[in-house]
Amino acid sequence: MTPRTSWSPGSSPATPRGSRVQASRVVARYLREARSYGDPKVYLEAMARVLNLYRNDYEKIPLMRQGIRWMNENPEMVYPPPGDKLFEVVKELRRYGQGMYAVSLPRMYARMHEAGGGKVFLALLQQLSFTDKRLRKRIEKGGEFYGRTRVQKPKSDQGLDVFQKTFEQYEAQLKTIQEAIAKGVPHGAEGGEATKLPAGPFTVVNTGGFSDEDMETAVKLVTKATALLKQHGYGKVCYGDIYLRNTVGPPRWAAFYSTDKDEMFIRGNLKRKFDSALHTIIHELGHRYEYRFLKGNVTRDLYRAIDRQTEMSEEKLPWPKSGERVMQKGVVFEVVTTEYTGRSVQVKLKMTDGSPGVYKVPLQGYHQLTGKRNPAGKFVSQYARKDQHENFAEMVAHHCLGTLPQEQVDLLEAII
Ligand SMILES: [Zn+2]
Repeated sequence: MTPRTSWSPGSSPATPRGSRVQASRVVARYLREARSYGDPKVYLEAMARVLNLYRNDYEKIPLMRQGIRWMNENPEMVYPPPGDKLFEVVKELRRYGQGMYAVSLPRMYARMHEAGGGKVFLALLQQLSFTDKRLRKRIEKGGEFYGRTRVQKPKSDQGLDVFQKTFEQYEAQLKTIQEAIAKGVPHGAEGGEATKLPAGPFTVVNTGGFSDEDMETAVKLVTKATALLKQHGYGKVCYGDIYLRNTVGPPRWAAFYSTDKDEMFIRGNLKRKFDSALHTIIHELGHRYEYRFLKGNVTRDLYRAIDRQTEMSEEKLPWPKSGERVMQKGVVFEVVTTEYTGRSVQVKLKMTDGSPGVYKVPLQGYHQLTGKRNPAGKFVSQYARKDQHENFAEMVAHHCLGTLPQEQVDLLEAII
C-alpha cells in the first residue's frame, strides 16, 4: 500500500495535486524504471498540437471578459442588440457561464500529459546536460508539474482566469522544451578529459571538471560507504565506476543508480551534505544489490510482511466523532460522520466557515492530519513505504548506518 496524500481541499485551482516531495519521488521512480524516454522533439510536436486545440478558446478570452462586463453593467438586459459584437458571446455566457472553461482544464492536463508532458522533461534530464542553471530548473519544474496524475477543476467563476493562466503556463513549457533541445549537450560529450581516482574497489570518474576538493569528498564518501557495506554483508555491490556529475536527476538528488546499465552516479559538491549523501549512496547501492544479486520475490515478501504489520497498527486508529475538528493548510474542518463503507472507513468533513460541500477522506488520511498516524507506518522511513524496491534500499541504508530496528535487521539478514 502506498500512502496517498493527494486529498487537499485547500490547494489552488488547476495546480497539480500532491506534495513536492512526492512529486520528486515519482520522478525518481520513473527515471529508474523507464528504459527509454523517447525523443523530446516528438513530444514537443505532439504537445504543441494539443495546445493548439485550445488556442481558439484562449484567444476568445478578452471578448468573454467584455461580455461579462457588459452583463454586469446592463443587469436589466438579457442580450446586447443583435449585430453587436458581444451578442454571440453573451448568448454563450448566459447558457454556459465560465464553467466551460473550468470544465476543460482537467481534460487539457490529461491530454498534455499524454502527448508527452509526462515524459519529455525526464527525457531531457536523462539525455542532456545543461550548463544554464535556470533553464535546468525550469525543466525540473516541468517534470514536477507532470509528476501528478491529474489536476482539479477550478471553481466555475474562476474559469476564465485559471484557463488563461494555465494556457500560458503550457506555452511557457513548450518554449522551455524548445530551448532545452537547442542548448542541451548530450551526456558524455560535455568536454574535458575525465580524470579518475580509485576508492577501494570503486573508481570515481570526474566527468565534468570538478575540483580536486570535490573529487576528494567523493572518494571519502565512497570509501566510507564501501566499509559500511562490507561490514554488513553487502560487499558484493562494491565494484565498477562511479561517475561524478553536476546533476544526477531531479534537484537535491545526491546519487542515482541505473538498473538498465548497472551504473552509479553521484553529484559533485557534497561536502556539506556528507551524512545524507552517504545514506543516499548506500541506498542506491542497495538497489544494485537487489537487482543484481537477489532472485525471486524476496523483496516483495519482505515489503508485504512490514505492510501487514502497518495495516494491523492502523486498524487501531480511533474513529473520530461528529463535531471533532481538524486543520489542513489553515482551513478548519469539522467531522460530519465516520462510516464503514463496506470497503474502508471514511470520514466526512465540512468546512467550519460555512463553505458548502462535504469532503470524504479515508480514516488513515484523517489521522495523517491529526498526527495520530505515523506516515511511515512500521517501515523504517516514509520513503521505504513506497514500494518493495525503495523499502529494500532504505533498509540496507539504515542497516549499514546502524539505525535499523533489530526486528528488521533479522528480516533482512534472512534474505541477503
Ligand atoms: Zn531508491
